[in-house]
Amino acid sequence: MRIIVQKFGGTSVASPEVRQMVLAKIEQARQQGYRPVVVVSAMGRKGDTYATDTLIGVAKNAYKHIAARELDQIMYCGEMISAVVMAGTMQAAGIDAVMLTGGQAGMITDNNFNNGRILKVDPTRMINLLKIGKTPVVCGFQGMTVDGELTTLGRGGSDTTAAALGAALNAELVEIYTDVDGIMTADPRIVKNAKILDQISYGEVCQLAHQGAKVIHPRAVEIAMQKNIPLVVKSTFSDAPGTLITNVVQQETSETAVSDRVATGVTYLPGVMQIKVILEASTTHNESFKVFRAMAESGISVDLINVHPGLIMFTVMEDVADAATVKLAALGYQVETTRNCAKVSVVGGGMREVPGVMANFVEALSFNDIPILQTVDSHTSISVLVKNDDVNKAVTALHERFGLSN
Ligand code: ASP
Ligand code: MG
Repeated sequence: MRIIVQKFGGTSVASPEVRQMVLAKIEQARQQGYRPVVVVSAMGRKGDTYATDTLIGVAKNAYKHIAARELDQIMYCGEMISAVVMAGTMQAAGIDAVMLTGGQAGMITDNNFNNGRILKVDPTRMINLLKIGKTPVVCGFQGMTVDGELTTLGRGGSDTTAAALGAALNAELVEIYTDVDGIMTADPRIVKNAKILDQISYGEVCQLAHQGAKVIHPRAVEIAMQKNIPLVVKSTFSDAPGTLITNVVQQETSETAVSDRVATGVTYLPGVMQIKVILEASTTHNESFKVFRAMAESGISVDLINVHPGLIMFTVMEDVADAATVKLAALGYQVETTRNCAKVSVVGGGMREVPGVMANFVEALSFNDIPILQTVDSHTSISVLVKNDDVNKAVTALHERFGLSN
């Protein structure tokens, strides 16, 4: 049995017209000899009647601090409505569709409400349905505990459902349908000549997603990567081939060997605050351990960490900025903060051990008079902290400098 998982995001299932386009994608897969498993998100976006954000609003209008468990029950409704409507659309077209909740599809999670971790996926029911020619339509984003409690997988979790089902079913392919033609070299609202990537590796797309690009949920990529299931990000609204995500970037797909590229994409993460903890010259290195332990105890995650004698620098997201500074002040530290910063990153599996990448990066920014507040790099990415106001200039300059505009 050649199984394909086809996941359709909120904008792909929002109206009867677009659901016909979804239907065409499902028919196409069937004609190619696949047995599709369809996964859907809640219909529409923020502001739409049955979108997840709307449902959260309904619950929070009753009580702002409603319990996580109850919030999961109402969030469940969004995907339920969407999957029923999609199953109906398919049945009307003669496809034997069967709607399943996440729990019915075998998505077992822990009891961490609003952010359930998948413990296992039992694909038995789906396999049995596929064997008798039925097409499961699964609610994305949903799980169930072993005790039968309803859970959700964290915002944007329908991608995770698709990847987890793909892995459990040993699918040939997982397609993530959205409203753009694929993963781009940069945000096209900033860089006019940003390009759709034909291919990208799991590692690169994870980096892009973690560094701010809203392409696909990084958990979905991590799950697909473990089982080496190829993912394709593509549009419901066009016939463009989309971006293939696999473990290697093949050479032969393009005239210029894509594996030779140093950089794959440029991305940015706004809403970051830089913290400098200024220490007395006499303090020992133990001090840095105390600072980071304090952040951890407050549940604050830190990034861009530099430790020097007399100075500890790191960043936190703006939404925890006050909590972080209050905690550090309470411990008696002298702290300097810079708000309204953004992390701008160049990601590329090909930059490993290539000399001059950092030089190019820094040059591109300094030629454009963009002050660098901090840097950090890994084998496959370089990131800098800049002021929010410099983001567009920085992303454009780096896109150009790393040859992504050609
Ligand atoms: N509907 C859920 C959300 O808005 C899950 C998803 O769209 O992936 O977060
Ligand atoms: Mg999404």
